[in-house]
Amino acid sequence: MREELIAPCGMNCGVCSSYLAMENDLKKKGFGKTYCAGCLPRGKDCYHAKRCELLGKGNVRFCYQCRDFPCKLLKTLDKRYRAFYHMSMIENLEFIKKNGIERFLEKEVEKWHCPECGGVICCHNGLCYSCGLEKLKQKKRKYRWDES
Ligand code: SF4
Ligand code: SF4
Ligand SMILES: [Zn+2]
Repeated sequence: MREELIAPCGMNCGVCSSYLAMENDLKKKGFGKTYCAGCLPRGKDCYHAKRCELLGKGNVRFCYQCRDFPCKLLKTLDKRYRAFYHMSMIENLEFIKKNGIERFLEKEVEKWHCPECGGVICCHNGLCYSCGLEKLKQKKRKYRWDES
């Protein structure tokens, strides 16, 4: 996990399906996936940039530095991620604020580590993009956590 993959909103782009698709070159493996290099590396926020001027202009490294934190936008996103994707942007940001980015990265490595092969598990579907691709291939629609 790399620091530049932690987006201002608290998302860890390193566990996003679009990042992992790129990292593991899934197009070459027969998947029709979108690639994304991550919010900061590609210089484009996937969610907030158009809606939040501060993030759009790159004025804030992390949302907790904003006086409106956690704003309505962030709360809406956070609610969706808590419900479906086993993570919370607000919790991530509070952890980073309190403990620093290094400790957060260590925690993330542990959290998303595949016990089978040591690869990275995706927050959007719960699959390891090294050893879990068969399952992803079998699904016609989007696969999500815990579906058999
Ligand atoms: S799509 Fe969004 S969350 Fe995923 S890697 Fe890109 S910027 Fe990050
Ligand atoms: S917390 Fe502040 S910087 Fe972050 S999205 Fe909301 S308004 Fe923008
Ligand atoms: Zn694995």
